[in-house]
Amino acid sequence: MTKISIIGAGSAVFSLNLIRDICLTSSLEGSTISFMDIDEDRLHNAYSLCRRYAKEAGIHLNLEQTVDRRESIRDADFVLNAALVGGHDRFTQGWEIAKKHNYRFGGSLHVMHDEGFWINYGQLSLMESILKDILEISPNAWYMLVANPVMAGVTYLSRKYPHAKLAGFCHGSNGIYNVAAVLGLEPEHITYEVPGINHFIWLTEFRYKGKDAFPILDKWIEEQSEEYFKTCKNCDSMGPKAIDLYKKFGAYPIGDTGNPGGGAWPFWHHADGATQEKYKDDPDAWFAAYLRNGAEKVRRIQEVAEDESRLVLESFPPKHSREPMIPFIEAIACDIPRVIILNVLNEGNFVPGIPLDFQVEIPCYVNAAGVAGIRTKGLPKPIIEYALRDRVASVETELAAYETGSYDDLVKLVLMDPWTRTESQARSLIDEILLLPGLEAMKSHYQQ
Ligand code: NAD
Repeated sequence: MTKISIIGAGSAVFSLNLIRDICLTSSLEGSTISFMDIDEDRLHNAYSLCRRYAKEAGIHLNLEQTVDRRESIRDADFVLNAALVGGHDRFTQGWEIAKKHNYRFGGSLHVMHDEGFWINYGQLSLMESILKDILEISPNAWYMLVANPVMAGVTYLSRKYPHAKLAGFCHGSNGIYNVAAVLGLEPEHITYEVPGINHFIWLTEFRYKGKDAFPILDKWIEEQSEEYFKTCKNCDSMGPKAIDLYKKFGAYPIGDTGNPGGGAWPFWHHADGATQEKYKDDPDAWFAAYLRNGAEKVRRIQEVAEDESRLVLESFPPKHSREPMIPFIEAIACDIPRVIILNVLNEGNFVPGIPLDFQVEIPCYVNAAGVAGIRTKGLPKPIIEYALRDRVASVETELAAYETGSYDDLVKLVLMDPWTRTESQARSLIDEILLLPGLEAMKSHYQQ
């Protein structure tokens, strides 16, 4: 029987969706789900919610909860990592410091973003230590990287541990369904290709009922977009910034590509308040809402978990989340072949122009035999150039610093940020961030 270990099981973003999707996947009946987290309250809430959900949904699962990671990984077939070291507070503590040093949201991948260098250090260390446990205890298990940084994590770990069974997951490509909804297209009749790098994926093939759907998009832009911009609240899928990128590059940005979730690339739309307003993209407000929603989800899970008199199915109606993780597990464990968008190394030149040893987000054929990447038609050349400058170069610099532990290499990373003007600004930022509580290991890693 299949065993799934979920590390960081109390995750605000994933806990509920994973529980729902597992309980709605009848072919996983009889599986063991091991919940693991270092926060005992969140762990227990996720576990007890799942126990009640499974009972109400009439699916038999063997559920376990533990704070012992190695125990959770033992005998696992799938180890899913959704953990966030330091939690959301670590984002905001670093951002507050960075703002004092004149950094702002917009095109900033490793400072004003949830993949800041001080966050990624803890994440990469945890990702690697979990993988070492897997290779020692359950070497045949699939390692499913859900926590960020997916781009840096897949690149780093797949290069260093080429025999590990590893894939990265991101729900960003579901952004295509937002586009379809605004255009009034029935989701079951769209087909598409959205190749790229994590948080930098672009719609290059788009069909509706078998016919090219770009003319539908173009007509909507021509005739309806201005009206839409006046009323859209969260415009990011179809807002003026996305349309501007589409017109400039000839492919449509999907998911977190241009929005704050991917770092609000590129910086020029965020040059100042007036420019940001013109493009209706406000990363400060976006992240404030993201953090509020996360806290609210954790609170709701706790509330329902603590109230045994409530029907969990009523509080959280049974609806598949469209997250790719459980379909991936089902495809492999039950040999149900399907195509899933995954993050893997570009070894098969799946996205021409991206280095072969760098992560790409592409469709993969998944079944009991494993994962086979599918070569895409690729991206327009200017998009590749920006991908190399704004994603590949900074992640390579980050990984070089991470591996050497050199403070000067870390400075080189921060010098790449679009809001860095002087070297002393970069150094002051790093020095102040390294004094944050919980970053002692990082401080000594960089030989302060
Ligand atoms: P969160 O802080 O709400 O949850 C993370 C959980 O990890 C917490 O329950 C925490 O106790 C636990 N944890 C922390 N350190 C741990 C450790 N050493 N071992 C085990 N558990 C540990 O965070 P979140 O908002 O749910 O985000 C989780 C991760 O998912 C982040 O990295 C986030 O950027 C990422 N994310 C990924 C996607 C995607 O599609 N791949 C989308 C959104 C967010």
